[in-house]
Amino acid sequence: MSEFVFPPPTPPCVAIAGAARRFPVRRIFCVGQNYAAHAREMGKDPREEPCFFTKPADAVVASGATLPYPPRTHDLHHEIELVAALARGGADIAKEAALEHVFGYAAGIDLTRRDLQSQARKAGRPWDLAKGFDQSAPLGAIAPAARIGHPRAGRIRLAVNGATRQDADLSEMIWSTAEIIAILSQFVRLEPGDLIFTGTPAGVGPIVPGDHVAGEIEGVGAVEIAVER
Ligand code: MN
Repeated sequence: MSEFVFPPPTPPCVAIAGAARRFPVRRIFCVGQNYAAHAREMGKDPREEPCFFTKPADAVVASGATLPYPPRTHDLHHEIELVAALARGGADIAKEAALEHVFGYAAGIDLTRRDLQSQARKAGRPWDLAKGFDQSAPLGAIAPAARIGHPRAGRIRLAVNGATRQDADLSEMIWSTAEIIAILSQFVRLEPGDLIFTGTPAGVGPIVPGDHVAGEIEGVGAVEIAVER
């Protein structure tokens, strides 16, 4: 007889580019406002230390999926982001050693119920449910760092129905991937399987039913989703 009262779920996982094996996801951390122009469009000072939030691990959804428009929102937003996938853990990781913990990188979309986030902000309440809802983390295949290196520059863009909405460069990130890992590891012990969404550039905006959303990061990969009509 099983020791569990019901079968435990299989871990959420993500495809690895050019490999049959998959990357098991442990947790999803996200950085808020890591591009100055986006911080400004959200009314924030870009010089502040990065803020972090999380999504449930099972919010990951494979690129190519068609998603239902999520409930309890009338303002679903796209945020294209470079995502770092960790294969090694640690606490108080030095910035200089941080990238040794990265297995690879992917293009991800931090889907956001912007109306719920704004309401929560105004009320001084947590915005977990604005960010961490079902299928809120579409992710392309992870490109191993052993093959692509650790991108510090490269075009990052997103289009909705073929029209460009976000178009920036990874070099505009305020906090580098190494700095993010170092700072985040001061707050929590990072573990293999953790994903870090590193923040989105300016140009975030609404997605409506029937939209096709496609993002691409030069030298890393692509991600796309469709939203049900
Ligand atoms: Mn984001």
